[in-house]
Amino acid sequence: MLSYSISIPEKPILRNRGGSFTFIVSPKLQICNTGGGGERERGIRSDPIRLGFLFSQTVPSFVTQRAIKLKSFLCMAGQESGAVLQFAPFQSSVDEGFWHRLSSLKLNKLGIDDSPISITGFYAPCSHSQVSNHLTLLAESLPPEPSEQSSTPPISRGNRNRCSVPGILYNTNTLESFHALDKQSLLKAEAEKIWNDIHSGRAEEDCSVLSRFLLISFADLKKWSFHYWFAFPALVLDPPATLVDLKPASQWFSLEEAESVSAACNEWRNSSSTADVPFFLVSIASNSRATIRHLKDWEACQEDGHKLLFGFYDPCHLPKNPGWPLRNFLVLIYSRWNIKKVQFLCYRENRGFADLGLSLVGEAQISAPQEWRDELHVPNVVGWELNRGKKVYRCISLAKSMDPTRLAISAADLNLKLMRWRALPSLNLNILSTMKCLLLGAGTLGCQVARMLMAWGVRKITLLDNGKVAMSNPLRQSLYTLDDCLNGGEFKALAAVNSLKRIFPAVEAEGVVMAIPMPGHPVPSQEEESVLDDCRCLCELIESHDAVFLLTDTRESRWLPTLLCANANKMTITAALGFDSFLVMRHGAGPLSSTIDNRAEAMNALSADMSKFSPTDSDGGQRLGCYFCNDVVAPVDSTSNRTLDQQCTVTRPGLAPIASALAVELLVGILHHPHGIFAEGDIANSSSNGINEQPLGILPHQIRGSLAQFSQMTLVGHSSNSCTACCDTVVSEYRKRGMDFILQAINHPTYLEDLTGLTELMKSASSFKLDWDNDTDADDDDCVEI
Ligand SMILES: [Zn+2]
Repeated sequence: MLSYSISIPEKPILRNRGGSFTFIVSPKLQICNTGGGGERERGIRSDPIRLGFLFSQTVPSFVTQRAIKLKSFLCMAGQESGAVLQFAPFQSSVDEGFWHRLSSLKLNKLGIDDSPISITGFYAPCSHSQVSNHLTLLAESLPPEPSEQSSTPPISRGNRNRCSVPGILYNTNTLESFHALDKQSLLKAEAEKIWNDIHSGRAEEDCSVLSRFLLISFADLKKWSFHYWFAFPALVLDPPATLVDLKPASQWFSLEEAESVSAACNEWRNSSSTADVPFFLVSIASNSRATIRHLKDWEACQEDGHKLLFGFYDPCHLPKNPGWPLRNFLVLIYSRWNIKKVQFLCYRENRGFADLGLSLVGEAQISAPQEWRDELHVPNVVGWELNRGKKVYRCISLAKSMDPTRLAISAADLNLKLMRWRALPSLNLNILSTMKCLLLGAGTLGCQVARMLMAWGVRKITLLDNGKVAMSNPLRQSLYTLDDCLNGGEFKALAAVNSLKRIFPAVEAEGVVMAIPMPGHPVPSQEEESVLDDCRCLCELIESHDAVFLLTDTRESRWLPTLLCANANKMTITAALGFDSFLVMRHGAGPLSSTIDNRAEAMNALSADMSKFSPTDSDGGQRLGCYFCNDVVAPVDSTSNRTLDQQCTVTRPGLAPIASALAVELLVGILHHPHGIFAEGDIANSSSNGINEQPLGILPHQIRGSLAQFSQMTLVGHSSNSCTACCDTVVSEYRKRGMDFILQAINHPTYLEDLTGLTELMKSASSFKLDWDNDTDADDDDCVEI
C-alpha cells in the first residue's frame, strides 16, 4: 500500500493551466510503500509533481485533504502572472470594549430581543510591511445606550485611521441558536445588499458598503465568554479573475508618476472629507500628473482620456496579494462599467504617508459571462472568516482579564438585570443603586437587611451600632465570624462594613459607632452634651439618607429615629422580633409633609374591612401610622430589671431572616410605587388590590407573622393623634424646641404621655382597644416587644 505525505515547501509555485491548478511542490513529496510483507520503501520525488494529476487518480483521502490545505496556503503565499487572482482574506479584531458594550447593551436595553443590530467596523490601509491591518470592532461600533444617546457624538467621519464599514450583528440568546443560525443564507443576504448597492449606484456614492460585513455571536454574560464568527461577504467572479501582472507600485509607475501619485494620495488621505473613503479612482494624465477622484466621477474621467487605475485602501501587507476589499470592487467595476481589463492600486502606507514600495499595482482580467451582469442574478458568495485555517467560530473569555472588582460588579447586577428582561421590566435599578440606606442596628436584623439590600442592588449602606461582636453573635448575625469576636470584639458597625466589602467590593458602606439616645434612660448632667451630640449626629445621618431601617432590639431606641424620620419625611421601615412572631412595617409620611391632603382622598377609598384597624380618632389625616402609633404608653426603659432571656433577643433563628427579607422587599415596593411614601396600605387578597396592582404586587403597611402558626398577615394602621413619636404635636414641639425637647423626653418618663394626651387617654378610656395588637402581644410577654 502506498502512502503519501506532502510537506509544505518554502517557496511553492502555483500555476493555472487551462482552468485547473497545478501545484508544484518540488521537492518534498514523500511516497512510502508500507504494504506487503512489512517492507518499507521510501522515496522522495525530487522532480515536480502535478497534484492536479494526483487529484484525478484514486488516492487516499488524506492526500487530497493535505493538498487542499496546501492549496489554501498557496493562495496566501504567492501567485504568478496568468494565475487566478488570489486575495488575502480580511482579518477581524475585536476590542474588549466592544464585548463590554455588547454585554451592557444586552442586559440594559435589548433583553431577549435578538433582532439584528447595525454595527460599524473600522479599518485603515496597511501601514507595516510585515503586518496586515484588521477590521476592528470597538465599543463605539455598537449603537449608544439610551442613557448616553444625547452625550455620545455620532461616529465621527473623516478619521484616517478609522474608515467606517457597515456591518450587521446577529447576537443570539442561546448557544444552541448560535449554532443553529443558517450561516449560508445570512451571508447570502449580506451579499445581496452589496449586489443591490452595486447595481443601484449607491456603492459609488458611499463605497464603504462594498466592504459590508457580518458578525454572529452568542454572549454568555454569566461566564463572560463570547462565541463569535465574522464573515466578509465577497461576490465570486466565475470564472475567477486572472492576474496579468502584479508588482510594487514603485516599479509600475515612472518616477514622475510615482511622485505625483504619492502626493495625490497623501492629499486624499489628509483631507477630512476623503480620508476615510476607501475606494477611489487614480487618474494619470499624459504629463504624469495624477489626481484622485471619487468613484462617482468615473464617467467624467472617461472624457479626459487619462490613464485610470482603480485604487482602494488595502489592509493586506503581502507583496503578492491584494487584500479582500478588491473582490467586490472588481465586481463593481465589471458590472457597472463593463471593464474586463482592470488596473488596480492596492494603496498601503508607511508612517502615515503613501508607500509605493509597499503598495501594489496589478492588472487583472475579468472574463465573467455576459448574463452575470444581470442584476437579478446574484453571484455566489464566500467570506466566513477562518479560525487558524479552519471553518470554526472563535471564542473569547474575558473573565480572567477582567479586574475582579469590576467582574463582581457586573456579575452582581446580572441577576437583577435579568429580572428586567421578562419578569419585571419596570424594575428601577438606578434608584436602587443610588439610594442611601441607613441601618440602625447591626445585629441579627441589621446584618440580614444589609445583605438583602445588596442583593437588590443597593450600593450605599450606613450601619449604626455601638455594640461589639460577641462570641454568641456569628451564628445568627450573618456578617460576622469568630475573628470579629477576638480581643474583646470588633465594633459591629465596623466589622459589618468590612464584611460587606468582602462580599462585594464595590459597596459604599460606612459604619458609625454610636448609641441612640433613648427616652426613659435619664442622662446625668455631665453627659448631657455628649448625648445631645449623638442626637445631632443621628439627625444629620437621617437627613442625609433616603431610607432608614429601625432594627435595634429595644422599643425605646426606636423612638428618636422615628421622630426624626417623621420630621424629615423619610422612608422608614421597622422590623421587630418576638420569640416566634415578627412585625415588619413601613411608617407613614411625616405629619408636616405637604402632600398628605392629596392622598387623604385616596385613603378613604380603602375597603371597609380595614376600618377596624384604623384608629377611630384619626380625623387629623389618613397618614399611615408609625411603630408607636398604636401604643398607649410612651417608650420607657425596657432593659432594667430584666433577666438575661428578657434582655436579649430570644427568638427562633428563622425569624430574623424572614423579617429582614420582608423589610427590604417592603422598601423596594415603596420605591416602585407611584405614590412612594404616601402609598396607601394594601391588604393581601383584598378586592381593592386588583385596581392599582403594581408590578411588584401589593404594598402593605404592616406584616405580622408567626412561626408558631406559620402564618402571616397584612394590616393597615393609621396614624394616631396621640402618637408619642409621629403626631403633629410631637413633631411640632421638636421643631420648636429642638434638643431641649429631646432632652426632656429622655429625662422625664411621663413627659411624652402628658404632651400627647396619652395620660388623659389612659385615665378616661381604658377601653381603647386594638384587637390585633393584643393578640400578638399576648404571646410575647416574655420577649422583646413587638
Ligand atoms: Zn406614630
